[in-house]
Amino acid sequence: MALAGRQIIVVGAGIGGLAAALALRQRGAEVTVLEQAEAIREVGAGLQISPNGLRVIEALGQSAALSARASKARAVVLRDHRAGREVLRLDLGKLPEGQGYLFAHRADLVELLADAARAAGVQIRLNQKVTQITPGMVPEVTLATGDRRSADLVIGADGLHSVLRGELNGAAPEKFTGQVAWRALIPNDFGHPPEVTVHMGPGRHLVSYPLRNGTLVNIVAAEERKGWTPEGWAHEDDPANLRAAFSGFGGSVPQMLSRVDKVGLWGLFRHPVARRWFGEGCALLGDAAHPTLPFLAQGANMALEDGWTLARCLDASADQPQALARYQQLRRDRCARIVAAATGNAWKYHLSNPLIRRAAHLGLAAAGRIAPDRILRQFDWIYGHDVTA
Ligand SMILES: Cc1cc2nc3c(=O)[nH]c(=O)nc-3n(C[C@H](O)[C@H](O)[C@H](O)COP(=O)(O)OP(=O)(O)OC[C@H]3O[C@@H](n4cnc5c(N)ncnc54)[C@H](O)[C@@H]3O)c2cc1C
Repeated sequence: MALAGRQIIVVGAGIGGLAAALALRQRGAEVTVLEQAEAIREVGAGLQISPNGLRVIEALGQSAALSARASKARAVVLRDHRAGREVLRLDLGKLPEGQGYLFAHRADLVELLADAARAAGVQIRLNQKVTQITPGMVPEVTLATGDRRSADLVIGADGLHSVLRGELNGAAPEKFTGQVAWRALIPNDFGHPPEVTVHMGPGRHLVSYPLRNGTLVNIVAAEERKGWTPEGWAHEDDPANLRAAFSGFGGSVPQMLSRVDKVGLWGLFRHPVARRWFGEGCALLGDAAHPTLPFLAQGANMALEDGWTLARCLDASADQPQALARYQQLRRDRCARIVAAATGNAWKYHLSNPLIRRAAHLGLAAAGRIAPDRILRQFDWIYGHDVTA
């Protein structure tokens, strides 16, 4: 119980920051979360919570609350873009016993973690933009107002443009992947099944799955592009551009896209995983340490794993530097491997040459018929990992 009474500031009330705050508080720390937004409100869209992330939600005591708002995933289905013909079906019901897979609205998960954290005694302060984090024996945060606060430990859970990441690692070179992605939510009045559906076409693919007990459908559509589009979650685009980009797609795609009336667009960038995850009196977690491309749906799951692991390491040793070193040791290689695998997946859905695409789809279909379990087992190293064990 090394954490009892320790004063900890968490910068950022995203999924990683809130999960860490709750896990730390449950072990007796005095936790304050500083969030720049003026409200914890309905932002973002769908997230896939895979078994490795769900174990953390369970360990935090929040699985019933999440299940009440989420949708249970039945399968992942790859389809050819022209008529939506099924190429491969991975039955998630065949995941090993106890491995659940959910689709959740990001806002629902953020809200339930924030409610649980508050109920446990975490102070969540909104409208608190942090401009600087200064490591030290007594680390300090500086707010945009000029106010300063200190604690025994400051955790940078401040996402993609993290203040602390820069402080510990210097400027990180980011690289445009040549891909952009649209994100939209539509009403599910056409019976989208409880499956992740990936429509694969030349130079583009479209992922859809239901949310909120099947009442909404989340769409993420990626396209290869030479031109650069800014990174971030707040750039709107004209739905006509999305429809034009996917005009060659058949199956359920035209029906889905006809319902889109609001869409976000963001550029996909590669970032190196942070070399240093901690300094004197401070640590990084989640996207602040390892932003990832979305092609393995692991951003939120890794952030949940980080939050739990950090709290566990800090509670296991009264020697804070030693605990932070152990945390980095447990997390960095795993996250780097997942980020690399997501980057490697980027081209797979997009084969442009029709002959190569046909051969690849036939190969996938054959593998799915002959050894479906073997395909699922390829994900064991991600889904089977249990940071709460
Ligand atoms: C608005 C938004 C919408 C998103 N929507 C989706 C989505 O639909 N699907 C998906 O797969 N992923 C989405 N993501 C990303 C996804 O949530 C993360 O990849 C993953 O959950 C890891 O979370 P994180 O807690 O590390 O970082 P984030 O979720 O990015 O959270 C970081 C938090 O820190 C706050 N913050 C940042 N800088 C400061 C600062 N200087 N001072 C104080 N607070 C600060 C941010 O406001 C944010 O609340 C979204 C992220 C954001 C911020």
